[in-house]
Amino acid sequence: MIGTGYVGLVTGLCFCELGDDVVCIDIIDEKVDMVNAGNPPIFEKGLEELLRKHLAEGRFRASAEYDEVLQTDITFICVGTPTYEDGSLDLRYVKDAADDLGTLLRRKRTRHTVVVKSTVPPTTTEQFVAPILQKRSGKKVGKTIGLAMNPEFLREGSAIEDFLNPDRIIIGASDPKSMQVVRSLYESFDCPIIEVTPTTAEMIKVANNAALATRISMINEIGNVCKALGIDVRDVAKGIGMDARIGPAFLKAGAGFGGSCFPKDVKCFIAQAKHLGLEPWVMQSVIDVNEAQPLRLIALLEKHLKLRGKTIAVLGLAFKPETDDVRESRSFPVIELLLRKGAGVKVHDPKAMANFKQFMPDIHYSESAKACVRGADAVLIMTEWPEYADPKLYGDKLVIDGRGVVKTKNYEGICW
Ligand code: NAD
Repeated sequence: MIGTGYVGLVTGLCFCELGDDVVCIDIIDEKVDMVNAGNPPIFEKGLEELLRKHLAEGRFRASAEYDEVLQTDITFICVGTPTYEDGSLDLRYVKDAADDLGTLLRRKRTRHTVVVKSTVPPTTTEQFVAPILQKRSGKKVGKTIGLAMNPEFLREGSAIEDFLNPDRIIIGASDPKSMQVVRSLYESFDCPIIEVTPTTAEMIKVANNAALATRISMINEIGNVCKALGIDVRDVAKGIGMDARIGPAFLKAGAGFGGSCFPKDVKCFIAQAKHLGLEPWVMQSVIDVNEAQPLRLIALLEKHLKLRGKTIAVLGLAFKPETDDVRESRSFPVIELLLRKGAGVKVHDPKAMANFKQFMPDIHYSESAKACVRGADAVLIMTEWPEYADPKLYGDKLVIDGRGVVKTKNYEGICW
């Protein structure tokens, strides 16, 4: 595994569970040391136990040395693919990984299969990664180097369970042998395996996230109209979700989506469509709704009090529960606007405070939800952590709930 983040580490350890031997490579020495000491650098349910188990069994290790690749048969590229300002994806880490891999593969005598697992814009594997590998290795892709694209659909918070129980596996391979090699890794799985080209596999991943993000922005827009009409959107979601053509998943209205994938992948789709001279109307609206949605919480708050000089408790910094990931968390725009409007901000999160502090060091971090709420003039709920569901936590304080976590005496929901 090249890259020891959420995807590289989880995938690597899950392949150990399936009986493979794995080495995870990363350019950050500190991460490598932590992993080898049995301490995952990220919080993910069950990850520490799995890491310690496979370190002890000698099936798994982390390394900063690319040379380790020479002892392996298959390399997964699992590096980050962040966004540029215009929404297109920054492929510099993919390029570095492909450069280093290709250079090493020049020395390898047996066939090696390279699999792109990072989420990348369609055409990247065949038109960007393949030429780099060929140039650096002096070998031909499809002959002595196998190449495939195998997107990952795990969700942070339930990553291990998701990886081990997938709805389907998507494999895009450049040649039949690579298809067979990647297929063999998943042969114990009881789920459909879809064989496509690498470019189709890349599009399936981006389109998958675009479809899920679209459902969220759609129900949020419906929710905003419901709120104005005095309707509880949760009843509406239940009603439409029972239509077999619609289904119940991803119909939870709230403060919008965040995380390392949805915003980035939708923006990647928009940038690529524009590059092709196409107008991505729907996806642009998905992003527009998502940017406006968290700020509605502030408008609701201002119906009840003037913000200047008040103290607002913000509960929840992770972009969703059961993770410490704050990338694109909707708490950022909400806190920024509160501060601009002259309010003081206290925050709490059971797992994500250290990560959030790196971006916003100057707000008050409370050691518990109770301490956060104490002395605040009002409370905003931004993440659906179970510990925020106790109405006793709030007494008769004004609570504006962005996630539908609780019902208190003095309460407003974002869309109900
Ligand atoms: P991450 O930022 O948590 O991890 C990436 C790791 O790659 C980092 O540890 C970084 O140090 C390392 N790295 C960067 N360049 C390297 C190089 N040249 N050699 C070795 N290591 C290098 O990212 P992530 O969340 O694991 O995501 C990885 C990819 O998978 C992204 O494309 C993402 O969109 C996609 N993805 C993520 C998720 C998710 O839930 N996080 C789910 C599906 C797909």
